[in-house]
Amino acid sequence: MKQVDYIVVGIGLAGISFCEQLKANKKTFVVFDDASQQSSTVAGGLYNPVVLKRFTPVWKCKEQLDLALAFYAKLEKTLNVKLDYRIPIYRKFASLEEQNDWFTASDKPLLSDYLSSKLIKNENTAVDAPFGFGEVFETGRIDVKTLIDAYKDHLLKTDQFFETIFDYENLIIEDNSVKYKNFKATHIIFAEGFGVSQNPYFKTLPLVPAKGELLIIHAPDLKIDYVLKASAFLIPLGEDLYIVGATYEWKDLSNNTSTQAKEELLTKLEKLINCKFTVVHQVAGIRPTVKDRRPLVGQHPTYKNMYILNGLGTRGVMIGPYVAKQLYDFIENGKPLDNEIDIARF
Ligand SMILES: Cc1cc2nc3c(=O)[nH]c(=O)nc-3n(C[C@H](O)[C@H](O)[C@H](O)COP(=O)(O)OP(=O)(O)OC[C@H]3O[C@@H](n4cnc5c(N)ncnc54)[C@H](O)[C@@H]3O)c2cc1C
Repeated sequence: MKQVDYIVVGIGLAGISFCEQLKANKKTFVVFDDASQQSSTVAGGLYNPVVLKRFTPVWKCKEQLDLALAFYAKLEKTLNVKLDYRIPIYRKFASLEEQNDWFTASDKPLLSDYLSSKLIKNENTAVDAPFGFGEVFETGRIDVKTLIDAYKDHLLKTDQFFETIFDYENLIIEDNSVKYKNFKATHIIFAEGFGVSQNPYFKTLPLVPAKGELLIIHAPDLKIDYVLKASAFLIPLGEDLYIVGATYEWKDLSNNTSTQAKEELLTKLEKLINCKFTVVHQVAGIRPTVKDRRPLVGQHPTYKNMYILNGLGTRGVMIGPYVAKQLYDFIENGKPLDNEIDIARF
């Protein structure tokens, strides 16, 4: 039997964020993932410190952003891949009233760093935006799929990654350790996204999973070099390809794409752009969202060496590194978890 410090289940944004804490602190670990969930692999990958519906700051935006930017920069070096594409977000205004709300918000203390106080006029005939745009600073896109593929390869090289289902029935819990197949570990971290609904130890937590779908379109005449946010997001990928997203659906929790979601996105897109395009791809995943919109982090109430890192919701790119650090500091350094994210609140 091989002894390690940690077993990690799941290698989405949550799992990778925690593994990076382990590596930085020279802990030994192995990871199991069966690719059954694909929230992280399909994600648009945007990071953005502002809630663009209401013009309010994202919870702990500065702390999250500082950690996240350093985190992805370090991973770019370790994995030797490009991950962070800095790109502004332009919020389309629907009316003069919205313009006014934006400028009022851009004067507020936390928001003034992120919301430009200049009105941007639309000069692109392929885009329909008579009231112009407001620009958000400190935004960008992480290529999450490339990150996950590269991270798995990286762990495979050191025999730390097993591409297989984690079978809960084979977990043996002892006083100060757990055993799983031929591994003995001091701690186990569950980071399964919506897969936690199958986990007998944590499945009663109030996850309210939200399926999301995205289209990839080819639009050679669109020529925008910013992320356009209106009722949908339009994210340039280069080579005239764009992501269009995303939908929200709470009943169908399969990873299958649907005609309904495609039509919903096309209707929104047709109100936003006036040029020709073709749909080249459609993807779907389940976001692990939570009733109170805060992550699910902490220790199992009975089994003290068992933990959860979940509930990253709609903003896994920014929040993942932040909550992973909190969980690591809680386990190894005895620092209390933020009450707002601790599963003890349920
Ligand atoms: C359409 C869409 C667009 C999005 N856009 C953005 C965006 O622009 N910006 C942003 O920040 N966030 C975005 N998100 C949200 C973001 O993707 C999530 O917050 C994040 O992916 C959650 O990561 P996770 O690691 O918790 O879960 P997941 O990515 O679901 O990872 C969990 C992993 O655990 C594995 N697993 C589960 N159960 C088991 C088991 N029993 N055995 C082995 N492995 C198991 C799964 O295979 C999976 O790899 C989007 C989500 C969707 C669906």
